This record gives sequence, C-alpha cells and structure tokens, in this order.
Amino acid sequence: MYQEYDYIIAGAGAAGLSLAWGMLQSPLADKNVLVVDADPTPRHDKTWCFWHAGTPPFSDIIHKRWSTVEIGTPEERFSQPVDEYHYYGLRSIDFQQNVLQAISAHDRFHLLENAVTDLTAHPSEQAAILHTPDHTYQAPYIFQSCFRPPGLEEADIRYPLKQHFMGWELTANREVFDASACVLMDFDETFTDGVAFMYLLPWDDTSGLLEYTVFSDRLLRREVYEEKIALYLHNRFGLQPIDYQITREERGVIPMQDRPFIPWYKPRIMNIGTRGGLTKPSTGYTFIRIQDQVRGIIDGLLSEGAPRVSPPSKRRFRAYDLWLLHILYTEPREALDIFFHLFRNNAIDDIFRFLNEDSTLIDDLKIMSSVPYRPFLKAIWKSRRRLREL
Ligand SMILES: Cc1cc2nc3c(=O)[nH]c(=O)nc-3n(C[C@H](O)[C@H](O)[C@H](O)COP(=O)(O)OP(=O)(O)OC[C@H]3O[C@@H](n4cnc5c(N)ncnc54)[C@H](O)[C@@H]3O)c2cc1C
Repeated sequence: MYQEYDYIIAGAGAAGLSLAWGMLQSPLADKNVLVVDADPTPRHDKTWCFWHAGTPPFSDIIHKRWSTVEIGTPEERFSQPVDEYHYYGLRSIDFQQNVLQAISAHDRFHLLENAVTDLTAHPSEQAAILHTPDHTYQAPYIFQSCFRPPGLEEADIRYPLKQHFMGWELTANREVFDASACVLMDFDETFTDGVAFMYLLPWDDTSGLLEYTVFSDRLLRREVYEEKIALYLHNRFGLQPIDYQITREERGVIPMQDRPFIPWYKPRIMNIGTRGGLTKPSTGYTFIRIQDQVRGIIDGLLSEGAPRVSPPSKRRFRAYDLWLLHILYTEPREALDIFFHLFRNNAIDDIFRFLNEDSTLIDDLKIMSSVPYRPFLKAIWKSRRRLREL
C-alpha cells in the first residue's frame, strides 16, 4: 500500500527546501506534503551568494549584504558601489534550520529522514511513487533533486566544465578586510589550465571566507587550493599562517555545462535544482534560479493544477552561455581577457543585470561590444550545431 500525499519533495537541499518554504507561504500550505532526505541535518557547509535587486529571498536570515564589489585584474584593482543589485550571502545552516523549523511547526508538512531508492511512475499516469528501503509514498506530483535525469548522458555534454573551489573561513589577528566590499573575482593570471580567481567574502574587518575558485574540467589537488589561498593572504594582506586562524573549510564542485533542459524525470516527477539543470552554465550561480523555478511551480499548481515548466534561460541567453563555455573550454586565456574587458568597461550593476538575464537586447549588445569579439565569432561558428540541440 502506498501512503498518499498531495505533493512529495525528494531531496531537502536548496531546491527542495525552497519549494517547501514557498508552499508554506502560499495557499498550498493546506496541502499534505512529504519532504524526504537521506540526511536533512542542517550544516554550515555552503555559503549561497547571489545578487538581487529589491528585497532578497530569505531576507530575514541573510548573513551579510555587500554594497560594493571589487574586481582584481593583473593591471588594476577596482571597487564599484552597486545601486541596483546588492550582493548577498546566506549560510546553508541558517536556511535549513529556518525551513525545517517551519516544516516541523506545520501539521500537514512532514519531514522523513530516509534514502530515496527509486522514483517511478504510477501505472495510472495520474501519480508518481517514491520508494524508500522500507516503504512507498504516492502523490500526483513529485519534485526531485536526488537523481540525475535519465537521458542526460555524458555524451550530451560537449563542454564538461566545472566550477571547483576550496576556501577557508578565517579570523586574522588584525584588521585587514574592508567589510563593505566583497571581492567577486581577483584573477590569478599564473593559472593556465582554466580561469582561476580568488573570491573573498569579508564578514567584518578581521574575518571572512576566502575561496580559490577555478573554471576548468580538472579538479586540483587539495594542497594547490591551500597554497593559493595562503599566498594570496600573504601577498595581499601581509598575513603569515601565524596571523590567522582557520575556523572552517568550504569546498564544492558545481557543473558548468551545455546540458539540455530536461524538466521531467519521469511522468509527474519534476527535476528541480541542480539536477533540473538550474545552474547557469557560464557562472555556476544556481540559488536565485532555484527561487524562480519555485515561483513557476507554485504559480502553476495554483492556477493550472500542474507545475509550470519553463527553461531557466531564454534562447538568446542559452546561446551566450554556450559561446562563453566554448571559449572557457577551448581558449581559457581568451576567456580571461574577456573577463578583464567585461569588468573594466561596464558598471557592475549592468553586468549583474546581464548575468541575471534581466537585460534587453540593446543592453546585451552594449556588453558584447565591450569585450573582444574574435573569440565569439569562432565560438558562434564552432558551436552552431550544438546550439540547435539545446
Ligand atoms: C559549497 C557550495 C557552495 C555554493 N555556493 C553557491 C552560491 O554562492 N551561489 C549559487 O547560486 N549557487 C551556489 N552553489 C550551487 C547550488 O546553489 C548548490 O549546489 C545548491 O545546494 C543546489 O541545490 P539542490 O537542492 O539542487 O542540491 P542540494 O542542495 O545538493 O540538495 C540535494 C539534496 O538531496 C538529498 N539527496 C540526494 N540523493 C538522495 C537520495 N537518494 N535519497 C534521499 N536524499 C537524497 C541530499 O542529501 C541533499 O540534501 C554552491 C554549491 C556548493 C556545493
């Protein structure tokens, strides 16, 4: 016998919990909802950052907001105040605790700690079934962030890039950071196997999170990330290892891929989050796109009784992402040059608007005319067939 729910959310990470939270804030709060995760214990292991105009999602628990963004290139380092898009940091532990508390305070939303072993379509095609080692659960719709969608084979991905990073949260023995400015990208020109940069989120004058981040297809040895961070702390802030205490480590790998958009895992089982292809291929940013997906799902359920399916990007932005992926994958030095021109020649607000895919075609042309065009001509030609497949 199946235990029945109105909706099942398989996976309680950023996507699953954002969806549960969105449902709790909507008229769907009167539905019976099951959230399943193998290990839903809140962890301080991710710092989700995003830029946003207006009130950001989860505004009550945002850990830090920055109104100045700094970029470092080999020639210069510049800080720019942002007017429209502020940069926000949200800690995974705060987010998880907040949503899990809301779920446990609600009598129709249930959290189940168990492994999902399979997700199958119901023979009636009017429902889907979630399997755990000892039980089965059924709902008209399941939203899943656990499994890779079938059909998404490696062969489908021509530019299998990753954003990989390792960072230290640390406290220095003196005031070295400018707490008002986050360092979005401080490029490392000495790295040639991809594009690499330092990312610094200062919490205050003495503490912050510093990550060495690389766009490439090959992960580095742990010692390499560590050496790069230690060197940066020394060169930029004059800090020796004795001058700071590492309080936490954060590491991750985020796919940056030209993958096709596959909305359904199986009939009535929708892919959400990273598994749903929500990561923006050219940047690795996912969190805000998850919030957009959640809004579409909830609006659709409320107005049409079915979750709304919409690709995370419009076609022209998919094309830009594909061209940049091509350049990053085949000519990382040229990609680095594009980044330098992009940041040197445009206001950060305009860049954020473009990367958020809120820009007009005229805005896009302005951005594109500010960077070297030759690599793009090559990329347009080389990836023309691939674009038709996506
Ligand atoms: C360290 C790190 C930092 C990041 N920082 C940013 C950032 O600053 N900005 C940004 O936009 N994006 C960022 N990302 C990318 C992206 O936002 C995150 O990866 C985000 O967590 C993706 O959400 P998700 O729900 O798709 O996956 P997850 O958060 O990984 O959630 C998946 C959930 O499914 C559960 N699960 C998996 N398999 C099973 C199973 N078989 N049974 C039961 N449960 C299962 C897992 O336990 C997990 O809780 C970051 C990623 C990482 C790894």
